[in-house]
Amino acid sequence: MTVGILDRYARLLPALLLALVVANPSAQTPITPDRNSYSLADDIKLGQQAVAEAKKQLPMLNDDRVDAFIENVGAHLAAAIASELRHAGFRYTFDVVNQKEINAFALPGGPMFLNRGMIEAARSEAELAGVMAHEIAHVALRHGTAQATKGQKFEIGAVAGQILGAIVGGAAGSAISQGSQLGLGTYFLKYGREYERQADLMGAQIMARAGYDPREMANMFKTLEAKGGRSGPEWLSSHPNPGNRSEAIVKEASMLRVEGNGDSGQFQSIKSRLAGMSPAYTAEQIAKGKATTGGRPVGTGSRRVVHVEPPANSFRTYQPSNFLRISVPTNWNEVAASAGSVTYAPDGGFVEGDNGGSAFTHGVQVGVVQGGGGTLQQDTRQLLQILARANPNLRAAGTPRRETIGGREGLTTPLSNVSPVTGEREYVVLSTTQLRDGVLLNIIGVAPESDAKAYEKIFRHVRQSLQIAD
Ligand SMILES: [Zn+2]
Repeated sequence: MTVGILDRYARLLPALLLALVVANPSAQTPITPDRNSYSLADDIKLGQQAVAEAKKQLPMLNDDRVDAFIENVGAHLAAAIASELRHAGFRYTFDVVNQKEINAFALPGGPMFLNRGMIEAARSEAELAGVMAHEIAHVALRHGTAQATKGQKFEIGAVAGQILGAIVGGAAGSAISQGSQLGLGTYFLKYGREYERQADLMGAQIMARAGYDPREMANMFKTLEAKGGRSGPEWLSSHPNPGNRSEAIVKEASMLRVEGNGDSGQFQSIKSRLAGMSPAYTAEQIAKGKATTGGRPVGTGSRRVVHVEPPANSFRTYQPSNFLRISVPTNWNEVAASAGSVTYAPDGGFVEGDNGGSAFTHGVQVGVVQGGGGTLQQDTRQLLQILARANPNLRAAGTPRRETIGGREGLTTPLSNVSPVTGEREYVVLSTTQLRDGVLLNIIGVAPESDAKAYEKIFRHVRQSLQIAD
């Protein structure tokens, strides 16, 4: 009888298995990054552009002790990223925004912004580390550009702006995407379930290697859910529950070994330090230009008197993207094309602020966002929530009505807002329709309330001129 090679290896197999178990005591769920047509350099460049905008638009806390604490926690987590997902040139940086709302966002290539409200909401350093590890996972898995890869065929305006906006989301998203008060751009209403599931699992793995119990991430989600409020913390709506979130994190945690103790022991003293400071700014204060960083104003608020010619009765057709045609009054021009949207406004109807922001008081903006995969009504409602966060005075001014947009089922919602430029009430009308792959096309018309009647006729004409080929 010959001893086959297979037999020989079969005898070795148990030993091999044992060796594997010893070398890797913490089994973990493997995570495969999604298809991505952007380069690592694209991620880095887009992230850096957004950082510059974020710092212009948002009030930074600039407190050495708080910053040092956050950077320390962040650096530990970043060092725990699995080697195969450490990308050359990615640099994980951490800034604290002096803003009350519970939110955080991370940009491609590594820069993260944490609102002071998020630190104040956490009950422990490990809970805060849970949010940070989850955000780091989105960056390392390059979810922003992966998501943008899917929506590429619906680009409007500048590509860079579109992707940039795509990543940020939330109120900060609209501020950053183009600094427009009623701007939306193409960012995603939220990450999809699969990306959330991946960020939860990879975040848990990062936490364990950095010396934090991953179950604290599940606890942080519960802490945030308990915060309630009108629509709950912003961060939860842009990072929705992929289903059985807590159970999945706890299950992953049971397979992981927490390596050492990552807790710095400084969390309570940092919280007391924050409690002793003057209150953080609200989104509304930031939107009104009342926030400062080191004495320098940030945000887009500015009030000025503007004279604007009434809309012409003749129309001109534009093609802002290869899938889209739109007609606007001949005395309106394309004034801003970025972040997945394009704005048409008359002279004086579009104001660029001194600190990088811009707002429009007259005209229309057409844009695309990646919807949440819901019905037209659901995705529209979510878009409205995001708009309301960036525009705290935005109110419904009637019930949404069905209207054919670009030859397909659409929804038109009348709204009322206070203009950040003039401080006067303004009429806003939002129309939406769904494109392929869950993309939501939106058209926003804005005019002073006193001219609402005349402008509504024009807005309807503009909406009805839309031609969509998706
Ligand atoms: Zn997430």
